[in-house]
Parts: sequence; C-alpha cells; structure tokens
Amino acid sequence: MKQYIFGVDIGGTSIKFGLFEESRALLKKWEIPTDCRDSGRNILPDVCAAIHGAMQEQRLRPEMIVGVGVGVPCIVDRKGVVLGAANIGWGVCHPAKVLEERLKLPVIVKKDSAMASLGEMVYGAGKGSSDLVMITLGTGVGCGIIAEGNVLTGIFGGAGEIGHICVNEAETEKCGCGKKGCLEQYTSARGIVRLAKVYLEKHSEESVLRNQMITAKTVFDAVKRKDEAAIEIAKQFGNYLGKGLATIAEIVNPEMFIIGGGVSNAGEILLKYVKPVFEQSVIPFCRGTRLVLAELGNDAGIYGAAETVRIEKHHSRKIF
Ligand SMILES: [Zn+2]
Repeated sequence: MKQYIFGVDIGGTSIKFGLFEESRALLKKWEIPTDCRDSGRNILPDVCAAIHGAMQEQRLRPEMIVGVGVGVPCIVDRKGVVLGAANIGWGVCHPAKVLEERLKLPVIVKKDSAMASLGEMVYGAGKGSSDLVMITLGTGVGCGIIAEGNVLTGIFGGAGEIGHICVNEAETEKCGCGKKGCLEQYTSARGIVRLAKVYLEKHSEESVLRNQMITAKTVFDAVKRKDEAAIEIAKQFGNYLGKGLATIAEIVNPEMFIIGGGVSNAGEILLKYVKPVFEQSVIPFCRGTRLVLAELGNDAGIYGAAETVRIEKHHSRKIF
C-alpha cells in the first residue's frame, strides 16, 4: 500500500498545503486564506477540512497517511504547546492535539522557520548538507538551525530567534520584542524600509526612492540602478546582517547560510553587501562559510513539514 504525507504551512495570510508520496514526490499543492477572525479559532478546523477534502478527492484512506506535519508562525515547545501567536490571533494552545483529535491522524507541529530550513536542506539550496542555518528575511527575521542533521528546538522551542540579537547598542527605538538594536530592526522587510526612511531624512541627495513608496524591493531595485542613496542603505543592511551572521557562525559553525524570505527576492545583489562584512567580521576558520539564496521560495515550509513526519517515522519518535 502506497503511503502519503501532508505538509502544511500556516502563515499570517495564507495556509499552504502539500500532499507528498512517502518517496518525497509532491503530488499536489494548494493554499487557502488564513482566517484570523475570532482569535484564529477557525484556522485548525479549516486545516482539517482542507485535508479531509484532499483525502476524498485523491481517494486516500486514513491508514494510507503516515502523518501530517504543520509549521506555525510561533514558538512551539517540545511538548507541542504554543504560548501564543500574535499574527494569527492564537493564545496558549496545543495545535497538534486539536488536529489529531479531529483528523484521527498522527500530527507534528513545529515552528515554521524550523520547517523551512529542513525543506531547504532536503529539497533546496542545502541539498547534501547536514549543518546549515536558514535565515528568513520577511516581515520579521526567522531562523532555522540544523546541526548534525537535527533541527535545533531549544528547551522552550525558542532556538534560532536570531532576529533579536543586538547588533546596535546605540539604537534608541524599541523592537517589537521590547529590546533595542535587534537585527530584525535593520534586516527585515520593515527594517530595510526604516533604514531607508532614516537615511533619506538625514541626507539631501537626489534618489529615486524619494518619489515612490519605499519597500525592500524598491530599495534593491534602486541599488541595481546604481542609485547612490539606495547603495548606502544596502551597505547599512549588509553591515548589520553580515555582523549578525558572523556571530551565529562562531556559535554554530554551519557549512552554509541560506537566505530566504521576501527580501531575498532581490537576488544575488543582496549577498554582495553581506558577504564582505561577514568575512571581515568572522573568526578566520569560518570565513569559508557559504552564503546562498534559498531555492524553494514559499514552498520551503510544506516540504520541511512533510520531511519532519518522515524523520519522526524513521526514528519511531513521538507520534508513531
Ligand atoms: Zn527584538
């Protein structure tokens, strides 16, 4: 009997689904909008309905499903407990338990950035590696750390919260976490916009950025057009991210950093501003650490979620 796995990635605006064969082939992928109303209470029922719908459509019986892997945009502790997920409205909850009761299938839930790093390791830019750090530069800064083939979770599920390491002691504005000078304040999509606004206020030179809405994309598009102000902003971004990555490299010593998330759509030009700072800042033996762009885009989460189920089954851990 053929076996199948569902990979699910719950995000702030959409929930992505992938149906995989156990052999890793992706059979079908689709997405539905995330219903964040009423403290996100419809999200898990929506996930169940989508999975049941796909099982009916593909004529899959429960015994043909190995399990369901789910990435969520928040910290998940080792017991599967979520303490809260502000962007989708959740308070304290145990999503795996809720889903297992409704689906009558084994379910494993982990932080989305951990799932995405696993996806890139098995199917994307990290193929063949077992030691990598994936940085997701989106609305915030996410990170998944894989050391010796294992995704690092941490005692409360908080491993890899690198968006909040301090890279600027002199910062006066507070980050969303309450601290000041966090990496996320300069390298997330929002952070780059902030860098740009501050720069343009302090300087008077002409720039294409003065005549349009500023986003991470418009900044890097302007860099490609050799706009001097945009280049200065990109340098600041590269300076913060390069130094942040150097700190991580010295702790984790990964084979590579994979840079993903919406900001990474800027392409190789982004790495041009990060690499030199990284190499100058890091201890010599880490200078060879590769910096590459993610390859799976928004699909990394579903691939990683499915892979988590495969790994758990292989080790006969937790859910099986
Ligand atoms: Zn912070």
